[in-house]
Amino acid sequence: MPAKKRKGGKNKLEKLAFERCNSWEAVPKKDAKFVEELSCEYKAFLDIGKTEREAANIIVSMAKAKGFVDIEGVKGAKKGDKLFFIYRKKVVALIVMGSDPLEKGINLIGSHIDAPRLDLKPNPLYQDKSTDLALLRTHYYGGVKKYNWANVPLALHGFVVKGDGSEIHIIIGEAPGDPVLIIPDLEPHLYHKAQASRKLSEGFKGEELRIVVANKAIGNKKMADRVKLWVLNHLNERYGIIEEDFCSAEFEVVPALKAADVGLDRSFVGAYGQDDRVCAFTSMRALFDAKVPKRTCVALFFDKEEIGSTGSTGAESFFLRNLMGKLFRAVNKPHDEHALWDSMLNSHALSADVTGAVNPIFKDVHEMSNAPIAGRGIVFSKYTGAGGKFAASDANPEFVGKVRRLFNSKKIPWQSAELGKVDEGGGGTIAKFLARYGMEVVDCGPGLISIHTPYELTSKVDLYNTYRAYKAFFEMV
Ligand code: MN
Ligand code: MN
Repeated sequence: MPAKKRKGGKNKLEKLAFERCNSWEAVPKKDAKFVEELSCEYKAFLDIGKTEREAANIIVSMAKAKGFVDIEGVKGAKKGDKLFFIYRKKVVALIVMGSDPLEKGINLIGSHIDAPRLDLKPNPLYQDKSTDLALLRTHYYGGVKKYNWANVPLALHGFVVKGDGSEIHIIIGEAPGDPVLIIPDLEPHLYHKAQASRKLSEGFKGEELRIVVANKAIGNKKMADRVKLWVLNHLNERYGIIEEDFCSAEFEVVPALKAADVGLDRSFVGAYGQDDRVCAFTSMRALFDAKVPKRTCVALFFDKEEIGSTGSTGAESFFLRNLMGKLFRAVNKPHDEHALWDSMLNSHALSADVTGAVNPIFKDVHEMSNAPIAGRGIVFSKYTGAGGKFAASDANPEFVGKVRRLFNSKKIPWQSAELGKVDEGGGGTIAKFLARYGMEVVDCGPGLISIHTPYELTSKVDLYNTYRAYKAFFEMV
């Protein structure tokens, strides 16, 4: 519940007002250790899941260890059975079967496991002739402030389908002793005319996000582009790939930074990719720990949210419709379209995504009475969108009221907020793609500071309360 700031507020009038306050002191003594344990597990999850494929892989591995089995081929699934479905190695659904029939609806928490980054172009490698440097061309993915990526140690995470059809997963820059990669910024001594007068959004332009990868040459001195050849030879010796393989590969460039505690009091976790892996992690952990539910519970982990949820692995696809069909088949129900729609219409969903918590250096972008504050609990965003709520899924008050009563009954701190001032900017989530099935849905997740930068901040007490909120939601009848 909204932690009450009023001391001894016995006055009837005082009880009418709503005020949020820091929720650290509301953590019960018995849970203090758990807050730290959960944060440690979370940091490890972030460090080994820096791409959607890696995150999907960990989620499935952890689920298998908890007794989840592949939904394919399951017949006669019953209360308490744990199933998983992985699609295209990038989208995952974890399911715990409830006692109610599926037509009565499911409790669903949907998050996304892709994050803004730099992808390599299909023809990335070239040699700059005047400097003998080999570089990689990139194309940014999602909403990034491009200048953020200069002179930050970068790691390369690649998935390559070679000419013979074999596949290889490559990670460079994460293991101790690995080299890291850099996009070189311009020194202040020379940047006045070339860069200082640019708008900040153009401090680095898209085509300037190029990564230095080598300076050594190989081969006969009469050959052209011998530094580029050095790189190709290195990649071939180490991974067996050739230049043509780049066209059937996904190379993602991410910060080569490990998650760490931030602040003298260690109150924050700092790391890359916490939008939205904080919700992926907490919803996964909540499902593992929830009591066997009355309503079937599903944790969904989507790809492609950061570019509008498009494509076969995004929430805009028919993945959920497909999944519901699989659930009906798993419980041996005849595949009836009406039953399928009934189950979706009767479902309850949280669109589990982060929102932008107030950064005290840039408070002006917020209207402070409606701004998420880190450490003050999970955030309801009744609607997202931009301008006049365009492209928003505006949650129904009946449903927000139901979830609010649930959180209050469990003493889970929450706040209700918007992403920035009216007309300041905006953003969207997967909420509208869940809403299209007719289910009740509201955006609900923690407020992070510095979203989409190479090192985002999440309050540990918000991590803990998000986990509690999602667990309560899965157990909601
Ligand atoms: Mn997000
Ligand atoms: Mn995002």
